[in-house]
Amino acid sequence: MGYDSSIKPHTPPQPAEGHPQLQPEPAVAVMTHASIPTITLPTASDYTSLTQAQRDAFDHWMKRADHAGTGDDYRHAMDNAAHTAGMAAPASHDIAVCDCLTEGCGCAAIFDAHEPGVVVTAPNAPDCNLSALQCPDCSHDHPRPITD
Ligand SMILES: [Zn+2]
Ligand SMILES: [Zn+2]
Repeated sequence: MGYDSSIKPHTPPQPAEGHPQLQPEPAVAVMTHASIPTITLPTASDYTSLTQAQRDAFDHWMKRADHAGTGDDYRHAMDNAAHTAGMAAPASHDIAVCDCLTEGCGCAAIFDAHEPGVVVTAPNAPDCNLSALQCPDCSHDHPRPITD
């Protein structure tokens, strides 16, 4: 009996020191310009240019977004609203119709609600998600920010 003390710990291979060799470029480059259909969609639309059927569907999805709870409902509704309006859903998944449609110059732009320069004209109602917003152009030309 007795402990065998002759077992030596294995020495891991040491990383090579010095100058790593430059690797050649991969032969097959990742194709980043493969066609993506949605890239051709505009990033904004105009409510007045929509057909009545489109408006009804758009209103439906915006109302869904307005009342969406947590989870994917909001995003889903917003993406559908954007597509109904013939525009690409923005990365923010958040679009709005210019508030000037009802209370201003008549502008009916549908735009990415996270664009810089957007002015909030009214906060969201209780239990609703959507604030009233002016598009960047109207926000610049005749802003009506919330006054409290
Ligand atoms: Zn506007
Ligand atoms: Zn306006």
